[in-house]
Amino acid sequence: MSDLSKNPRRFQGLPVSGGVASGRVFLVRADQREPTPHYSVSEAEAPAECDRLRRAVAGATREVAAIGDRVAETLGGAHEAVFRAQGAILDAPAFLEAMCRIIREERVNAETAVEQVMDLQERRCGELDQADAEDRTSGFAAAQRRLCRALAREGHGEGVVLIEGMLRRGEQRIIVAERLTADLTASLDSGNTLGFITARGGRASHSAMLARGLGIPAISGIKDIHTILGHGEQVLMDGDSGEVTVWPEESQVKAVPSASWARVRSPFIVPPLRSLPVMANINRAEDAEEVVAMQGDGVGLYRTEYEFLAARRVLDEEEQFERYRHVTEIMAERPVYFRLLDFGGDKTAAFLELPVQDNPALGLRGARLLEARPELLEAQARALARLSARRPVYVMYPVIVDCEQFLKLKNMIAQYTRGIRGVRLVHGVMFEAPSACLDADRLLAVADFASIGSNDLAQYLFAVDRGNEHVVDDFQQDRPAFWRVLQVIADAARATGKPVGVCGELGARPECLARLMQCGFAHISVGPRIIGAVRRAAARAGIP
Ligand code: PEP
Ligand code: MG
Repeated sequence: MSDLSKNPRRFQGLPVSGGVASGRVFLVRADQREPTPHYSVSEAEAPAECDRLRRAVAGATREVAAIGDRVAETLGGAHEAVFRAQGAILDAPAFLEAMCRIIREERVNAETAVEQVMDLQERRCGELDQADAEDRTSGFAAAQRRLCRALAREGHGEGVVLIEGMLRRGEQRIIVAERLTADLTASLDSGNTLGFITARGGRASHSAMLARGLGIPAISGIKDIHTILGHGEQVLMDGDSGEVTVWPEESQVKAVPSASWARVRSPFIVPPLRSLPVMANINRAEDAEEVVAMQGDGVGLYRTEYEFLAARRVLDEEEQFERYRHVTEIMAERPVYFRLLDFGGDKTAAFLELPVQDNPALGLRGARLLEARPELLEAQARALARLSARRPVYVMYPVIVDCEQFLKLKNMIAQYTRGIRGVRLVHGVMFEAPSACLDADRLLAVADFASIGSNDLAQYLFAVDRGNEHVVDDFQQDRPAFWRVLQVIADAARATGKPVGVCGELGARPECLARLMQCGFAHISVGPRIIGAVRRAAARAGIP
């Protein structure tokens, strides 16, 4: 699409989160360690941005010429040719001119313009059936990297704020990626994100759930979309139909019903119901403020592993304690259910140094990973135990497979927290593995409470990958086998008198609410922004 022709073009994908959004593309690449900054510039700022680019081009050209000279003296031949070719790309007036035109016309920063032009050249080379096409492609990629480094040395205009390697300013963006992994979503600037468009990922993938939680649209399953769209391109997306329009007509943008915008931007607030606590699923400590704003009855699932993913490292006991304390303080009297770190499967990160596994969802994951990496459990258990000296702290054990595993982890926690005064941990099991559900009576006899993780339960019960766009139609919980398993849990809950909540996405499905209530489950937990919608649906279903 970066041939810079601005004719509208449509793509059809899978609608995974509803709503409509229109904005500029922000391309996230999984291989990018330090994402290139993208932001808009005003008309008045555009000339200075072009000058910044010219200085960077001159600097990068000098740099590569000097390297070429050195290489000529030592290695010569093909090695020298690589740098001379890069120099020729950097020095080409046509490219500089094209980049400046993009800065002026699209009002974007120099890095965005560099990427648009270089990406296009790279793609054109890739399409050529010539022997040296590969070398030429990598020449453009190398020139782009060098130019972006030179631009970084030139600095940025006033008012541009660097946030975790990305720059934030100006208009909000639509994130485009091949797949939004858990660690990519953890480092997104969600306040400036209007929607997600991805090539891969199912309805229960973490990015789709995040989008629904934020109340923004998401569309998945558009093959190669991350290679087709370029930074800064204007798109209109409809998360209800799955349609993406690139360079839409102004009339199309205007035709978007204002109700859709309102739904995305300001979720409605419905006060608590009498008989059904509706809590929130959160990923980060700062999300707690939104839960209070939405009048949530508590935090029913705090996915603590996202704190690590966002920090891009393992957090120590003190760092965890501070984040957890913040959440409990914001939530005041309302309960907070902390889930122990649920790493592995689709939530992994390089800093964990996990072994390569052929089938990670069935490998070192959740409780099994905590057993294998006790140092992770120890620091978290101590942070939570210290917090519990102030108030009871609910702890949920992820992907438990049976009673023995639950008790083993509980004992490990008891050992790690020995010596901390006044520990009041309340231990709960997550029903996600079918084996644990079938063991519900024994598990609930020893646990204090439980919560149903319907996303993983569906994945493991129906042998269907929750994040795979090819099998989205099979990822469907409202089926007899699923309800039979829930009934086993409900019977065990009744027999033992232990409360069981639902924190998976099933709770956000209005058509399933009445049936969940008939099972006698104690609470529902959903994305903060959909608390109001769930309460409204519950009230319509006659739940007071
Ligand atoms: C679930 O599996 O339903 C759940 C709540 O946990 P997560 O989505 O974080 O795996
Ligand atoms: Mg889960």
